[in-house]
Amino acid sequence: MLPVAPTQYDVNFSIFGIPVRIHPFFWLIAAFISWVDGRLDLVVVGIFCVFLSILVHELGHALSARYFGWPPSILLHGMGGLAFYSPTFGYTRGRAIWIAFAGPLAGFLLLGAAFATAVGCQAAVAAGQDWAIRMFTGERITPVEFALGMLIQVNLFWGVLNLMPVFPLDGGKICSEILNARNSVIGQRRTAVIGMITAGLLAAFFLKSGQWWGGLLFGSLAYDNYRQYEQFRRGRW
Ligand SMILES: [Zn+2]
Repeated sequence: MLPVAPTQYDVNFSIFGIPVRIHPFFWLIAAFISWVDGRLDLVVVGIFCVFLSILVHELGHALSARYFGWPPSILLHGMGGLAFYSPTFGYTRGRAIWIAFAGPLAGFLLLGAAFATAVGCQAAVAAGQDWAIRMFTGERITPVEFALGMLIQVNLFWGVLNLMPVFPLDGGKICSEILNARNSVIGQRRTAVIGMITAGLLAAFFLKSGQWWGGLLFGSLAYDNYRQYEQFRRGRW
C-alpha cells in the first residue's frame, strides 16, 4: 500500500465537525485519473470531482458512525479514503454492517444526483434551450459535461468495487461481520479466503485490460488477504 503517514503537505480541515486529513498522494492519483492532454481546466474539475466523490463516500461511513455515538475521522490517501471510528460502546453487528454499507450508499446517491442532472441537461438540449446547447453540444467537451461524466464514473466504479467481498473494503467488512456471527476464527479465515480469491480475480481482470492501478490495488489486497489467511490458519491473530 502507498504511505499514509502525516506529511507537511497534508491538507487538514473539518466538515460537519468531522476531522479530515488529505495526504498529498491523493491529489496525485486524482490528477492521474482525471488527466486529459492539453486540458488543464478539465483536470482541475476532475480532481475536484474525485475529491468530492471519495469525501462523500467516507462521510457516509463517518456520519453513520457518529450517529451511533462513535467519533469518526477521515483520511483521503493515494489509494482512496478511510473513515476511522472506534465503537466504544453499543457495538452490534447490524450497526457495523450499516456503517460499512453507508459509504457506497452515499456515493450512489451522489451518482444518482449527477445522473439526473445529466439526463435533465440532455432533455434541455433536446428541447432547444440555449444555455444547454451552449454547454453540452460544443465541439470541445465542456467542464460541466466532464464533471457530470466524472461524478457518474467515479461513484459507480468506487461504490461497486468497495462492495466486493475483499477485506478491508466495505464489502469485505460486511462479509466478515456476517461470517463471524457464529465462530470468529472460522469466520475470519473464510473472509480471508473469499477476499484472496475475489481480489486475485479482480487483479487479473484489471491487469488484462491494461489498468495497472486496479491491478496494483487488488494485487496488494489479494496478498494482504493471503497473509491474513496464513495467520488465522496458524492460529496467530
Ligand atoms: Zn468505504
